[in-house]
This record gives sequence, structure tokens and C-alpha cells, in this order.
Amino acid sequence: MIRDTQSVRVRFAPSPTGPLHIGGVRTALYNYLFARKHEGAFILRIEDTDQARYIPGAEDYIRESLEWLGLKPDEGPGYGGDHGPYRQSERKSKYKMYAQLLVEKGHAYYAFDTPEELEKMRQEEEARGNYSPKYDHKVRDRMKNSLTLEEDRVKACLDAGDNVTIRLKITPGEEVVFQDTVRGTVRFSSDELDDKVILKADGMPTYHLANIVDDHLMEISHVIRGEEWLSSTAHHVLMYRSFDWSPPVFVHLPLILKPTGKGKLSKRDGAKFGFPVFPLEWIREERYHGFREEGFNPNALLNFLAFLGWSPGTEQEIFTLQELIEVFDIHNIVKSGARFDIDKARWYNQQYLISMSGEDILEGLMAAGPKDILENTDKNFLVKFADLMKERVHTYTEFVPEGLYFFKPPDTYDDKQIKKRYRPELRKHFETLKALIDQLESFNARILQDTVKHYLIENDLKIGVFFPLLRIMVCGSLKGPDLFSLIELLGKNAFLSRWDAALAYFEGIISE
Ligand code: GLU
Repeated sequence: MIRDTQSVRVRFAPSPTGPLHIGGVRTALYNYLFARKHEGAFILRIEDTDQARYIPGAEDYIRESLEWLGLKPDEGPGYGGDHGPYRQSERKSKYKMYAQLLVEKGHAYYAFDTPEELEKMRQEEEARGNYSPKYDHKVRDRMKNSLTLEEDRVKACLDAGDNVTIRLKITPGEEVVFQDTVRGTVRFSSDELDDKVILKADGMPTYHLANIVDDHLMEISHVIRGEEWLSSTAHHVLMYRSFDWSPPVFVHLPLILKPTGKGKLSKRDGAKFGFPVFPLEWIREERYHGFREEGFNPNALLNFLAFLGWSPGTEQEIFTLQELIEVFDIHNIVKSGARFDIDKARWYNQQYLISMSGEDILEGLMAAGPKDILENTDKNFLVKFADLMKERVHTYTEFVPEGLYFFKPPDTYDDKQIKKRYRPELRKHFETLKALIDQLESFNARILQDTVKHYLIENDLKIGVFFPLLRIMVCGSLKGPDLFSLIELLGKNAFLSRWDAALAYFEGIISE
């Protein structure tokens, strides 16, 4: 449901704890599509309150990923906007104020327990047969907090400032009910919920507090995020209630599953299955491959990701970003997990390459390398190379390795295929034909093909024998794009010198 009283404002709220996982990219994409569709705002908020998990460089990585994909935020750190700052570490004082407000309202309390005391509580609970002990209504009465201590002790603890946290006071026996656009009515029993810390001893808020305070202050209309946050939503709903704020619309996206369909896709799966699960390369102690470096076109990747958990309800699979914006509907997001299929991603990328001109492919091709070859080759040659090869590859990085024969004579020849076809009697024909080609005034694919075909017919030679040999002369194997276009691009001299080298090789092979 789109509220008509309020404009659409959505946020992508990653924590800079490492490179942005492909699931995060999908979350960003769905937020972006939804914002654009409803002419709303797409906001980037950096949730960096967990100092222990903060990784330098991760925020830049997130921004660079969004830029590469063309998902530019309307507001965010470095993007402006009048609901800032957009980095939670710069909003510290706000959270404290709101946490205290909840204490005043009786919905939260101060807790002073030391880590040892918390551990003792857990052990005692386990000894009583409670194997998932938590700080909740069952134990809070015997803990050190502002509900159990006398007022002057509370004051003393606050003044001392050690281990001062603020916890949410969950009332047991309530049903917490909320609507999720994807899951429908979601219910939790408050008995299952713990008295979550909302403000930590270091004065920093936890995710829960910062997240809902910011969603409120930033006037977020829809929270679109991964399913792993669904269970936190129960606490969030109670907090909205305690503040007397109206909650946003919740949209929890299905999990992205491993290629096997079993379990959530993890960052380790990339290495395990040999494909990237990150948009860009990330090199620290560990190294993760990126879709960009693997030669993917960002639009193809977005198209692929759009379908991981959503469907337009038609057979159409290829959509430009603009078309996705037009057809995207949060009501068509599916509940069940979406299996990550790298072959599908490669298929999308190939479809994009095929639809692009050689000229358009050039930029991605140059970035993919290898530089030593590409930078020493004429641009027009590369454009034609890209055009001829695009149907034969799936990514930018595959162009040169798959089409090395465009740049240098083959290092090896397919012996088996040569032996199957080459006979000593063919030599004189190859020689005559070479002389004919050498005399051609215009050297283009059509004339070449006509010349060769004409000669073969006149001399009663089989195309099925001759053409493959000709291809092996040029490419080394039977694989390759349209042969005569390739020969035209190589030019007469390069072609004829390959001809000589290959013919000598053919002769050698059959005399073995
Ligand atoms: N910081 C959380 C994350 O890293 C945000 C979850 C949310 O969108 O509420 O995914």
C-alpha cells in the first residue's frame, strides 16, 4: 500500500562491516526501483554504530558499488539531503536522547549488570533447564537495573558510569502483530522477545534503536530489507508503539539461496563454487572476486538481480533499468528463497553483450584487459573484434582469451581435425588458391568467400573439408566467429602468413 499522504522515501542501510554482499545489492536495487517508480527518494544511510565490526574502506566500497551499478542515492553521505547526517556515528546524541525518552515513558530501563553478572545469570538459567536464557521479564527482577535498585543506587550507578546500558522493557503475554507486504500478517509473542539493549555502555545505540529512530526522523515510508531482519521487526514495532510513532510499511525480501538451493548464499560460497558474490573485487586479508572484474555489465547484473526474488508476472526476462522501474511492483516479490544461479547471470550478461554494438562494448572490454594486448591494438579493430565475438562469450573478460587468434597466429592447431581432413593432394589446391587470394584487389569477406567457394566448386572439392581446414589455419581450432569476416579483419598479409605457417604444419602432421 502506498500511502498517499506521504511521499515515498526508502533507504538502503548497510553496515560497513566488509564488502557489500550481492544480497545487499539486490536490497539496494529493489529500494531504488521502488523509489524511482513512485518518484520518491532513495537514501543511503550508513549504519556504523558497531565499532567492533567497522571495517575501514567498506563505506567507500558501498558507494563505489552503487555508482558502478548506476544506483545513485538521492540523499546520503556525500550526496547531500536535508535529513542528515546520514552516517549513524555522527548522530550519536540523538539516539541517547530517544533512549532516555523511552526510560522516562516507562518503556525502557537502565541496566548496570557487568558481563560476569550476565554470564552468571545465563548459567543459572541453564541449570534450571532454560537453554535459551535471555534478559527478559523472567530474570530482570533479579538483575542490577533501575527496576530493581533503589533510586539512590540507580543514581550512584549512573554517576559512576560503569556498564550503563538502556534496555527495552518488553511486557510479556502480548501478541505483536504487523503487516509485511511480502509475508502478510506476521505475529510474534512478546514472551519470545528479550529486553534488548538499545543503548550500549559505550554510549552508542544498538542497531534496533538507531534504525527506528533514523527511519522515523528521515521520514522513511517503506522499509525494504532482507528477510533476516524480520524477527527484529517485532522489537521495532514495539518501539514505534512506545514512541507513539507510526511505523513504516515493511517489505522483507526473500533469502538468496546457494546454487544447490540449500541454505543462504554466503560470502564463502563464491570461492567454493567459483563465482563472484560481490559487485566489486575486495582485497584485504582475504580476496573476493567482483562481478565488475569478472567482466559483467552492470545493467545485466541488475537485470539478473531483479529476478532474484521478484517476477514481473510475464515471460519477459530482459529489461532495461528504466523498464524495470516501470514494471517493478513490491506486491510481486516472492516469499520463497531465490536460488543463485551463476549460469543465469552469465546468460543475462551475454544477452546484453549481444544487444550492444562493438562500440558500446569497447569500454567494458578495455577495462577487462588484458592491457598489453588491448592497448596496443587499433580501436576500430577492437570494435569489429567485439562485434564478431560477442555471441561467443558471456563476459568482457572472456573476449580476448576466447579470441586470441584475432591478435596473434595460433600457438597450436587441432591435430585430430587436421588428420581427419588434410590429404597431400590438397596442397596444390591450397597453393593455387593462395595465389588467387593474393591477387585480389579488394579484400573483403564477401569477395573472399566467393573466391574460395568458386574455386572449390570448379575443382570439385568439398566445402566440408576445406572450410574447416581454412578455419584451423586462422584460429587453430574449429571454434571461432564468421570465418571470412575474421579474415577480412586480419587483413591479407596477416592471413596469408598464417596460411603458410599452417600449411607447413599440416604437411608435417600427415607425414608423421
Ligand atoms: N544495517 C542493517 C544491515 O546491515 C540494516 C537492516 C535494515 O535495513 O534495517 O543490513
